[in-house]
Amino acid sequence: MSEAKSLNFIEEIIEADLQSGKHASIVTRFPPEPNGYLHIGHASSICLNFGLTQTFPGYTNLRFDDTNPSTEDTEYVESIKEDVRWLGFEWKNERYASDYFDQLYDFALQLIQKGFAYVDDSTPEEIAALKGTPTTPGTDSHYRHRTVQENLDLFTRMRNGEFPDGARTLRARIDMQHINMLMRDPILYRIKHAHHHRTGNKWCIYPMYDFAHGQSDAIEQVTHSICTMEFVPHRELYDWLINTLSLYPSRQYEFARRNINYTVTSKRKLLQLVQERKVSGWDDPRMPTISGLRRRGYTPKSIRAFCERIGIAKRDNLVDVGLLEFCVREDLNQIALRRMVVFDPVKLVLTDYTGVEWLQTENNPEDPSAGTREIPFSNTLYIERDDFMEQPPKKYFRLAPGQLVRLKSAYIVRCDEVIKDDQGVVQEIRCSHLPNSKSGADTSGVHVKGTLHWVSVAHALPVEVRLYDRLFSVEDPTDETADFMQYLNSQSLTTVPTAYAEPSLASATAQDRFQFIRKGYFVTDRDSTTQQLIFNRTVGLKDTWAKG
Ligand code: ATP
Ligand code: MG
Repeated sequence: MSEAKSLNFIEEIIEADLQSGKHASIVTRFPPEPNGYLHIGHASSICLNFGLTQTFPGYTNLRFDDTNPSTEDTEYVESIKEDVRWLGFEWKNERYASDYFDQLYDFALQLIQKGFAYVDDSTPEEIAALKGTPTTPGTDSHYRHRTVQENLDLFTRMRNGEFPDGARTLRARIDMQHINMLMRDPILYRIKHAHHHRTGNKWCIYPMYDFAHGQSDAIEQVTHSICTMEFVPHRELYDWLINTLSLYPSRQYEFARRNINYTVTSKRKLLQLVQERKVSGWDDPRMPTISGLRRRGYTPKSIRAFCERIGIAKRDNLVDVGLLEFCVREDLNQIALRRMVVFDPVKLVLTDYTGVEWLQTENNPEDPSAGTREIPFSNTLYIERDDFMEQPPKKYFRLAPGQLVRLKSAYIVRCDEVIKDDQGVVQEIRCSHLPNSKSGADTSGVHVKGTLHWVSVAHALPVEVRLYDRLFSVEDPTDETADFMQYLNSQSLTTVPTAYAEPSLASATAQDRFQFIRKGYFVTDRDSTTQQLIFNRTVGLKDTWAKG
């Protein structure tokens, strides 16, 4: 690690643990529940957990926290693996909490035998009623004093499927007066006759998060179990279970969730957007999912740089999506090939030019190793309709009657005449060119302020362009004063069915990244074919949402 970089609070803890000899190396894990696709918030957790074992000796496991059979699916498991790898990380072991169901069941039996767990026949309502409040103590359940023998018998029968869903639970016997509500005899197991994506119908009882997570950490000998702040109150129970069962002493550390403005980062809400068809799927380029960002044209490097810049903290805050956009612009500026595409064409005719010339131009001025390409130039071109004004204001440096501009990588041209239809709409802009002004060999001595992109009409390739904008029109769609769905930005997708591209784009394949000169950064969509090329706008060249 470079000297200049200061350690975050978790790195400081680890550094101290290594220096004191508490650990010789560390083990972390990234523990997603496979009930949805990963989003940009998860990227923070991934970069943190995997980043720690790049900085310090040790390794990171990928552990699927799959204890809730009704919402989980192998489709999600596969997408999570793909996304973690795409971000540039590799796990040491692929693990599933469900791998440990037998062990967890044994742990439960041990707790019962030690008198630390009991089967409760109370309904969820009764359990809630006896729980007390943060300011009033709870009351012991009627079933709290069952004998070990009776508990073993009932728990075995729960497992054997003798009781319907919700009929009984297994609870830890801790303290119904405990100041921490989570320590008031938390539920460890519930009955759920449901098919599990990995264990099938083997089980009809499933461990609760609190009984699975810490025990899985301990089984894997995770040294630093990192989660988000909402688990702070769970830490006491995490430690209690590990101590009571005499397991490997994994320790939990918390950091603040990262939320981003103009979007939502909750799998439940993202699922709702997919199910209600507000977006085309989990990987819709407007989604803040890793797969959506990938399809939008984000690079793994830009997402890692973003996570690095926001760092980690103990207090929740809303991160500006402008920073994410800044990070991707910074990366794409270095790597995206420059191309010319006209979105809203008007014809420019050179009255004093004949033939076709293939002009050599660089692929990326930021990167000489990106090489050059040739673009065809002729006397009939498309330029953007809004690059011409018949009555321009002062300091308008684009095309206007009598005015000179440079055509990118080609010549300086002058507007001599404008042809309009009956309605006054411009049909054609007639120009002449300065033959000695060719880019790279300009001896004209003429300096112009405006440079326009263009394509030769005879060589133009029709392409579809999808312009994406923010999915929500307000900074905090989950402010809870209204349903977040009401804040959807109706302008989040506009399509240009036919834009005209220079012919070199014909060979673009899915995920190729470009800068369309003066237009923004674009990526070839996965729906793109050689017959119908489709490009997604990743981000504009400038921040158009910036305040002030
Ligand atoms: P969601 O509410 O979106 O379902 P989750 O926390 O339930 O999120 P998990 O699959 O349980 O999702 O998360 C895996 C890991 O990613 C956890 O350690 C979790 O704390 C972390 N994580 C999830 N969302 C964020 C976020 N916005 N910022 C930072 N870390 C996050
Ligand atoms: Mg969750």
